[in-house]
Amino acid sequence: MKPFTLVTPKTITEASSFLKKHGDDGRAIAGGTALVIMMNERVFNPEYLVDLRGLKPLRYVRLDKTRGLRIGSLTTHRMIEQSPIVAKRYPALKEAFETIGNVRIRNVGTIGGNLAYAEPQCNPPTVLSALDAEIIVSGLKGSRRIQAEKFITGIYETQLKPSEVITEIIVPPMPPKGSCKFLKFTSRSEEDKPTATVACFLQLDAKGVCKTARLTIGAVGPVIYRCGKSESILQGKPLSDQLLAEAADSCTDSVKALDDIYGSPWFKLEVSRVLMLRALKAAWKEVSS
Ligand SMILES: Cc1cc2nc3c(=O)[nH]c(=O)nc-3n(C[C@H](O)[C@H](O)[C@H](O)COP(=O)(O)OP(=O)(O)OC[C@H]3O[C@@H](n4cnc5c(N)ncnc54)[C@H](O)[C@@H]3O)c2cc1C
Repeated sequence: MKPFTLVTPKTITEASSFLKKHGDDGRAIAGGTALVIMMNERVFNPEYLVDLRGLKPLRYVRLDKTRGLRIGSLTTHRMIEQSPIVAKRYPALKEAFETIGNVRIRNVGTIGGNLAYAEPQCNPPTVLSALDAEIIVSGLKGSRRIQAEKFITGIYETQLKPSEVITEIIVPPMPPKGSCKFLKFTSRSEEDKPTATVACFLQLDAKGVCKTARLTIGAVGPVIYRCGKSESILQGKPLSDQLLAEAADSCTDSVKALDDIYGSPWFKLEVSRVLMLRALKAAWKEVSS
């Protein structure tokens, strides 16, 4: 690894100023679980590392009655996995975070680092997109909000501008008769990165008709895919086993799966359809009980 200088900003503005000043020679670091590997492999050779760990106020999980769940970007996977608020109100989020790699990674890796890393095999973007979460990023010109499903634009690519840092993730309140499920499949060991991740959010109205369906697939290709056709099969109709099967069958219609060490495109799409049917059935069972 090339030698580097570690700078330790005390505020978000200071961090953004460092990142702007050093341009391509500077890089933010949070837990370091992804970045240090990439530096060891010489994918990045930054001269300056801007250490975000001093920004302690960005480490929290809070429930805001009107805005929903608020998670500071420096919150570790483990803190989210162990949060009683998350376990009670957003069990799908808990499932996504407690199945990241292994406990050593989860103790150090942060939600902000995971999103900025934008590796396709990351769990959180799939579930955050199904939950319609927003990612708040701050730079020298102020803050902006980005929908989770649009944040990742390609493999290791996001909407983040060079001097921006992720500061917070906001997940809307879980509505009555709403349920979200997240499932992943790993082909080798449980600790391995996934072949496919799926999430679904379903909300029924008082008559049992599907009011909202948000279905997402991750890990199989460069970005998070929304399953628009499946959503329109479900929305506005009373749910049935047959309708869920139809929705699951078409969930991969607009997905572009990649061929890689996690599986062939054919395998990834088959796995996604099976997982989606399981997730839909579990969410339907929960909202109709
Ligand atoms: C063995 C192993 C297994 C793994 N398995 C899984 C898995 O199953 N599922 C999964 O989801 N993930 C998995 N991961 C990925 C892991 O979740 C990420 O490494 C971790 O989330 C990155 O967070 P970090 O805080 O360590 O980021 P860092 O390594 O510090 O940074 C990663 C990138 O994000 C940027 N960055 C960090 N924080 C911010 C911020 N607040 N604002 C802007 N940019 C920022 C950095 O500049 C860098 O480019 C695995 C990783 C390993 C090593």
